[in-house]
Amino acid sequence: MLAITAQEIADLTGGELIGGATGTEQVTGAARIDSRAVAEGDLFAAFHGENVDGHRFVGPARDAGAALALVTDAVDVPAVRVADVETALSDLARAQLASARARREDLLVVALTGSAGKTGTKDLLGALLREVGPTVAPAGSPNNELGLPLTVLSLTEDTRFLVLEMGARGIGHIAHLTAIAPPDVSLVLNVGSAHLGEFGSVEAIAQAKGEIVEALPSTGRAVLNADDARVARMASRTSAPVTTWGMASGDVRVQDLRLDDQARARLTLAVPEGLTRLDGSAIPADTREITLDLLGEHQALNAVAAATAALVLGMDLEDVARLLPRLHLSSGQRMEAVHAAGDVLILNDAYNANPDSMRQALKTLAHLGRTRRTIAVLGEMLELGEDSLRLHDEVGRLAVRLNISQLIAVGPGARLIHRGACLEGSFGDESEEVPDLDAALERLVEIVEPGDVVLLKSSRDAGLRTLAEPLRDAL
Ligand code: ATP
Ligand code: MG
Repeated sequence: MLAITAQEIADLTGGELIGGATGTEQVTGAARIDSRAVAEGDLFAAFHGENVDGHRFVGPARDAGAALALVTDAVDVPAVRVADVETALSDLARAQLASARARREDLLVVALTGSAGKTGTKDLLGALLREVGPTVAPAGSPNNELGLPLTVLSLTEDTRFLVLEMGARGIGHIAHLTAIAPPDVSLVLNVGSAHLGEFGSVEAIAQAKGEIVEALPSTGRAVLNADDARVARMASRTSAPVTTWGMASGDVRVQDLRLDDQARARLTLAVPEGLTRLDGSAIPADTREITLDLLGEHQALNAVAAATAALVLGMDLEDVARLLPRLHLSSGQRMEAVHAAGDVLILNDAYNANPDSMRQALKTLAHLGRTRRTIAVLGEMLELGEDSLRLHDEVGRLAVRLNISQLIAVGPGARLIHRGACLEGSFGDESEEVPDLDAALERLVEIVEPGDVVLLKSSRDAGLRTLAEPLRDAL
């Protein structure tokens, strides 16, 4: 955070000083909701959680160096007491960003959204921009009404780029986030069926995601996926100029995208004449061949999205092409390669799952299946609403069409994947269902052979991500 006193925080949030606070206490660090993460000069925000009440930890937070607490209850350490801590953090984030912008004209805010790939793209863009200047783009997926203000509040006086992931579970959610952190550049990756249950239709998802470009000033820039029609159409929802990327069309053009025998992507990236940066200067035309250490076409396209934003923000293709091959995703369990004994490759892609990311993961697995035996271990995709049964059935059918060697559906919620595979034909013994994670592990230990590739994929709460390490250790 930019240095701020308790009195200023109280004024900004409409709070009162309590617990012996004099108003002169100085917050110089970040805002934290976990007392174990608190460092000298931080602000500790206490929440009433479902299981734990953060107010119990104001003492330990103080001992760890917290300059001040932000609370709703009475406490006996220096604190600002507010009606609602989340609202107070949002107010504080909005004010801090405004002061940071007033001090530093070259501070730029990039907001990004999409149904799949936000965190990976944020990691890549953050890594690119760090080469240019101090960048805030924390690992993980802090993309909601709490994570976003906390991210903003980790800016410092030096920060030049703030890369913000924005998620939506309904109309108006992204508008709420952009009101806290108005973007200079808004990037939209794709519109798919993640959270379809909450939204009701893919059109409603497009409507909600597009709020991110509506928040742009006319001096800003929308960076859009030309190959996704719903994303491309968002150009009409902003007065800001648009820069696109794509394989079939687009300003920054992907040519010859292919995967090597490790499923690592190679591509040629072409920047034509006539593209401009956010400041109006020309992006030099250039063409580069790039080999990525990222798995699957979808991760490659996320890298291209990050590259396009980096070009708009001032980087040259030469530098982008030099840096991209070295980059990995700093947030794990997204097509993460885990190597086990016997040259077994475990792809842990079970950070989350929806029909689009299932399709991409299976396609990547199928690619490796040209030279190796492939085993897809798939669990339930949550939050799909009334289409859920059909969408699970389709995943099973797709696995058959892609010639995946062996399918294991884990848990009752994944039963329809197994059934879809059986109904699609050709699969007999190659598809099976197991009741839970323990049974899946047991079965895998029985069947995995040297050289196999095992994909783990499910929604987060279905838990397949936890299988990677025990499986590696058991092989
Ligand atoms: P969340 O909404 O949970 O924050 P996210 O949008 O941040 O998700 P990531 O965490 O980056 O997305 O990736 C989630 C999953 O989607 C991973 O399995 C990843 O491999 C896959 N994925 C990434 N990009 C794409 C894409 N363009 N199309 C389909 N799947 C993708
Ligand atoms: Mg995310």
